[in-house]
Amino acid sequence: MKFTPAQPALTGETLDTLTEKLRERGEPAFRAKQILDWLYKKRVGEWDQMTSLPKPLRAWLAETFDLLPAALVLNKQSTDVTDKLLLGLRDQSLIETVIIRVPQEGVGLEHSRKTICISTQVGCAMGCVFCASGLDGLKRDLSAGEIVAQLLQVCQIEDARTPRARAELASFDNIVVMGMGEPLANYDALIRALTIVNAPWGLGFGARRITISTSGLVPKILKLADEPLGFRLAISLHGATDAVREKIMPVNKAYPLAKLIPAVRAFSEKHGRMVTLEFILIAGVNDALEQAEKLRDLARDLHAHVNLIPYNTVAGLPWERPSITRQERFAEVLRRARISVTLRREKGHDIDAACGQLRLQTEKAREN
Ligand code: SAH
Ligand code: SF4
Repeated sequence: MKFTPAQPALTGETLDTLTEKLRERGEPAFRAKQILDWLYKKRVGEWDQMTSLPKPLRAWLAETFDLLPAALVLNKQSTDVTDKLLLGLRDQSLIETVIIRVPQEGVGLEHSRKTICISTQVGCAMGCVFCASGLDGLKRDLSAGEIVAQLLQVCQIEDARTPRARAELASFDNIVVMGMGEPLANYDALIRALTIVNAPWGLGFGARRITISTSGLVPKILKLADEPLGFRLAISLHGATDAVREKIMPVNKAYPLAKLIPAVRAFSEKHGRMVTLEFILIAGVNDALEQAEKLRDLARDLHAHVNLIPYNTVAGLPWERPSITRQERFAEVLRRARISVTLRREKGHDIDAACGQLRLQTEKAREN
């Protein structure tokens, strides 16, 4: 389940760990910052481009570290608003990273709201019945370096789109940890990676603009509440009662709503910010008005935002999204109670990108 690469990734090093490794080699302390600047600020793709470093040091770095442990295999631009990147890792595993650009009313695409969706595992062990990522179970956790590398790949794509100005990661509005895998099941690598993403010597991206989505691992939600960096939290609820939720999300057996809801409350009280409840609408499964009423009560009680997502069909799975009328009726129950709610419109079918599907198609093609 664990993959030990020949060389650790440079993208998995913190300023402290890199400083220590360089110190052991007798290098001055300022070198670590210099190297991380080449990686994250100047974003070079080769060791020899780190021209301010002495040649022997560059040679040692090349022997010791993997500069970027994820290579671009495919960029599937399904529309002009999404880029789905398929990345290949050193053990040939595939992961997905998605760029989503949502144009704002009345302005051009260059002013769109830009979000990056990153993965934390190859596959997923949680077994939610509607999800493409979990169909083949968990292959392995990603390392911190592999999580960070996804963002450097995104920077390269953006750099190519806007050749005149090197597009900083800061030009993105949000990072959402909603790709393949259950982030809180790979907790230590996740926190290390996001620490690097947030740090001024790293990618310098604000913690408040990073959302971690979880299927509901209660002890880890409580642990996350105690982290010094204030990441945002989204809960994949998808059922407003245990009866409905446990039919589609096995995690509900270990952590039913009676455990999950107090953990979410504890998190939002500590952080003083709204948590998001995600609710995929699946026809005939969780789209009854009684579910909407229960969801309304939970959201009111938690002072949470609700994100309704019409289900994206997955090849080989029987689930479908409800009709627009039914989606609207469901949303109306929440709106009437003045719950903060978003229902993604038709464009979302493409935008949501249903992480995990691109990898699944490619894995299948490999087998044939
Ligand atoms: N494992 C984490 C994060 C990755 S899944 C989690 O479950 O929260 C990211 C989101 O996509 C989750 O809300 C998940 O339920 C949702 N999702 C999975 N399959 C989907 C599909 N086919 N259509 C729409 N949303 C889906
Ligand atoms: Fe895993 Fe999230 Fe998919 Fe559930 S919805 S199988 S937790 S990736």
